[in-house]
Amino acid sequence: MQTQVGIIGAGPAGLLLSQMLHLRGIESVIIESRSRDAIEATIRAGVLEQSTVDLMVEIGAGERLKREGFVHHGIELRFGGRGHRINLHDLANGRTITVYAQHEVLKDLIALRLRTGGVIHFEAKADAVEDVTTESPQIRFMTNDGQKHVLRCDFVAGCDGSYGVSRSAVPEHEVRHDYFRIYPFGWFGILAKSPPSSFNATPTTRSTTGLTSAFGKNCRRGSKAMASGSRPGPFFRKVSFRYAPSSANRCSMAGYS
Ligand SMILES: Cc1cc2nc3c(=O)[nH]c(=O)nc-3n(C[C@H](O)[C@H](O)[C@H](O)COP(=O)(O)OP(=O)(O)OC[C@H]3O[C@@H](n4cnc5c(N)ncnc54)[C@H](O)[C@@H]3O)c2cc1C
Repeated sequence: MQTQVGIIGAGPAGLLLSQMLHLRGIESVIIESRSRDAIEATIRAGVLEQSTVDLMVEIGAGERLKREGFVHHGIELRFGGRGHRINLHDLANGRTITVYAQHEVLKDLIALRLRTGGVIHFEAKADAVEDVTTESPQIRFMTNDGQKHVLRCDFVAGCDGSYGVSRSAVPEHEVRHDYFRIYPFGWFGILAKSPPSSFNATPTTRSTTGLTSAFGKNCRRGSKAMASGSRPGPFFRKVSFRYAPSSANRCSMAGYS
């Protein structure tokens, strides 16, 4: 098997890259370890910045996004029960944030890629990337029927995330230089079927910060920043989302719940 660009990973990076190459007449093959159904059902990101929306439109994947995306013109920060609106639209020359879930982006990109003749091997796990410093790198991968394959490429694009095989295949120090900043906290999130919310970051107690964001027209996500390794604790009893009606509604704004 041979191609110009072998792409590992059918996430947003791999799919966008493949379509952008296609529009410039460059052929590519995507190797993806998960099934199409699994990719299209995994909930992750929900917010697209303007440049991402512009790129989706430019490559021909923006039709549903434009129709169904939920445009936000700003955010509201709340301290001590008072809201402080940050009008991003005015501050950033008319640029906005669009709420459109990542799995919807992936559905659109996969459909477009397949419609325009793209090759995506689903349930095909890359085991190794070899000869990365030569003119002809190759990807070894296995399909779900147990068959092993080799994809010879002019270039390999490792779009399989920082824990994928690509990064470790690039020799550290000689070629690869890692620059990491690991923050000592993570996010604990709950997805709820609920009417639209304002898009607001809300410190709800003196010690904790929460974020409630719309995740589509009938869904929202509540998140709490937590020290790495800690447990959610009583935060979600204190913050009143739709599923905690007895608490004081610290996230509410006029016209929203
Ligand atoms: C809970 C959560 C919320 C987020 N919210 C936002 C948000 O609101 N806005 C935002 O911009 N970003 C957000 N992000 C970040 C965003 O999801 C990532 O930046 C984005 O998914 C990165 O895309 P990617 O294509 O680089 O990698 P990924 O999406 O991780 O895709 C990598 C792909 O490679 C495949 N793969 C891995 N190893 C192999 C292998 N060996 N062989 C073949 N395939 C392989 C994986 O199955 C996967 O499909 C969020 C992330 C999470 C987890």
